Amino acid sequence: MPLLEGTIGVEDLILLEPLDEESLIKNLQLRYEKKEIYTYIGNVVISMNPYQQLPIYGPEFIAKYRDYTFYELKPHIYALANVAYQSLKERDRDQCILITGESGAGKTGHEGAFRRQKRLSDPLELELQAALSHLMWVLGTKPRSSTRRNLVSKNQASKLVMSYVAAVCGKGEQVNSVKEQLLQSNPVLEAFGNAKTIRNDNSSRFGKYMDIEFDFKGSPLGGVITNYLLEKSRVVKQLKGERNFHIFYQLLAGADTELLKALKLEDDTRAYAYLNGGVSKVDGMDDASNFRDVQHAMSVIGFSEEEIRQVLEVTALVLKLGNVRLMDEFQANGIAASGICDGKGIQEIGEMVGLNSGELERALCSRTMETGKEKVVTGLNLIQAQYARDALAKNIYSRLFDWIVNRINESIKVGTVEKRKVMGVLDIYGFEILEDNSFEQFVINYCNEKLQQVFIELTLKEEQEEYKREGIPWTKVEYFDNSIICNLIEHSQRGILAMLDEECLRPGVVSDSTFLAKLNQLFSKHSHYESKVSQNAQRQYDRTMGLNCFRICHYAGKVTYNVTGFIDKNNDLLFRDLSQTMWKAQHPLLQSLFPEGNPKEASLKRPPTAGTQFKNSVAILMKNLYSKNPNYIRCIKPNDQKQQGRFTSELVLVQARYLGLLENVRVRRAGYAFRQGYKPFLERYRLLSRSTWPRWNGDDREGVEKVLGSQEDLSSEEVAYGMTKIFIRSPKTLFYLEEQRRLRL
Ligand code: ADP
Ligand code: MG
Repeated sequence: MPLLEGTIGVEDLILLEPLDEESLIKNLQLRYEKKEIYTYIGNVVISMNPYQQLPIYGPEFIAKYRDYTFYELKPHIYALANVAYQSLKERDRDQCILITGESGAGKTGHEGAFRRQKRLSDPLELELQAALSHLMWVLGTKPRSSTRRNLVSKNQASKLVMSYVAAVCGKGEQVNSVKEQLLQSNPVLEAFGNAKTIRNDNSSRFGKYMDIEFDFKGSPLGGVITNYLLEKSRVVKQLKGERNFHIFYQLLAGADTELLKALKLEDDTRAYAYLNGGVSKVDGMDDASNFRDVQHAMSVIGFSEEEIRQVLEVTALVLKLGNVRLMDEFQANGIAASGICDGKGIQEIGEMVGLNSGELERALCSRTMETGKEKVVTGLNLIQAQYARDALAKNIYSRLFDWIVNRINESIKVGTVEKRKVMGVLDIYGFEILEDNSFEQFVINYCNEKLQQVFIELTLKEEQEEYKREGIPWTKVEYFDNSIICNLIEHSQRGILAMLDEECLRPGVVSDSTFLAKLNQLFSKHSHYESKVSQNAQRQYDRTMGLNCFRICHYAGKVTYNVTGFIDKNNDLLFRDLSQTMWKAQHPLLQSLFPEGNPKEASLKRPPTAGTQFKNSVAILMKNLYSKNPNYIRCIKPNDQKQQGRFTSELVLVQARYLGLLENVRVRRAGYAFRQGYKPFLERYRLLSRSTWPRWNGDDREGVEKVLGSQEDLSSEEVAYGMTKIFIRSPKTLFYLEEQRRLRL
């Protein structure tokens, strides 16, 4: 079916003709223009961010999607959620929902689908609304209705969720409180882990995977959250037009005078050096009321008053550290050193978290080296001292974030239960190619490379299984196997991450450039690695690449990484003076964040590097995903202006590549592009044969045989009869049948 202007294109890209990038993008565009934001590739949902409120959510839609099977209605996330939840409940298969896409594409979700339009009182409505909340919640979207602005719905939402749970699996206070806790983890994590960026006003700056555990009846028992790689550089610096993490603004806007006084904070964001992105407010976001929600959410989850206070103290500490101004000082011998400009700030910090301010100052401005039994103290120059201060702030904040995730997990974890079912939801940064790509992009793209690997393998496996179930012979599918790239990065002895670790741990002078030299030497012949001195026949310099760069040919495209900072970021070390000082704080939370500062632990092995930690957590994630039945949502951002109705083809094309959509379609239709149960198929095409029209009393499969047998132009190669489904090889055949049907109507 050629793509005609004015049509809505195909609902499933498997039926795309011809199958190429151009028509794929065109198809998405035609649909987008008609506000059809969802499109399938088999059971994968592609979701285009509409940047507008579409009337396709709400109770009636839930009800519809609940009662139909996957292909009977227009593509929708509800359909996917329904399949996942039903098959979890009835077929007893653990599920995972993988949501990927670039920033602002719509992964974390939007308020609209969740906001209640009116007060509901009808029990059925209530239940349906609850189902909506439930599904959105299962999908990891935020329970926006819980903001204070719509207080009614705040209680309402959780009650509604509860009523849903009550409807599907009996009653129980236990279940209700679990539900509530799971729900409330969202606003807390968003406050500490989200920020306004240029691309998205509420951008998640960390990756999140959440396992939700259900009992055998399908009611939730609890869960486990895993977080990945918080963007901690944001703590000390933001791009122009961006903000630091929400919590800082929430705290300043929402804390009452008493709290501000206790934390020795001013209510003006301009007073803080770390809030330097130049924006303090975000349209439509009420920091003050969100602050109260966060406090409320924390107490619902089970944080004690004392814990909440300590969390806020540590948050305030970070802000105040940023205001510690350092200056150059010259020692008598002329060596550069640094000191603190005014002692008041550091005094206040000391008082708030029980630190000796003199010691803190020393730790910020000097460094103790131990050589054998001797201790040598050297002064840091201004640049080094500023670096130390910022490193400390970033470390405190990211450790605080990890602590919060752990604390939430403590509350929501499930005790020993014999049999449980699990639904995992992954909301993670997509493939990133920025102008300047650093260590962060490197690990993010590595993660996406791994996700692509799971995706292809699981999709193929699922195809194979279906063929087997249906008794249809399987033919091998050609696809691009990206394990060569994964290996290049993760190989335990010869991978780039291993090389980086080796360089970090090597005694002697190490630097980003010695690391790069090593890579260039080791991978000079690797087909997915390129360096400045390219290995082409002419041995010419590659002028498109900077001196400090190497390039990886990822499945999604080539990315040039700048090695500057790799060693430092991978090491992620704090000067021991700082961790020891923090550990001495008379502040239980702050102290617990720096266990390595305990002198008794000083001999402990150094913690794994950032790269190794990330690699390990990705490995755990992969293992987890492989054990589950995957459901995919691929999110796409149609334009960079956050505007409705605007479709920038080039932008969508790039994302389609990163998401591997074309490869996805190819794999899916390698064998038979289309398949359908005999019954619905017969129902639709019955009118094509005199034997089955107007009446057919026989068996469904036999009926389908009669219909297809009556089509003279149809080659027998084109179709295969499975146990329960008819399989059709090429989309053309289907279009032909459709055409015949249309002619007869
Ligand atoms: P991501 O998590 O992928 O970075 P978000 O889920 O935060 O992106 O989405 C960014 C913004 O796009 C949301 O705040 C919302 O304004 C809008 N948005 C996303 N999905 C939808 C949708 N289905 N309907 C309406 N608006 C949406
Ligand atoms: Mg997000």
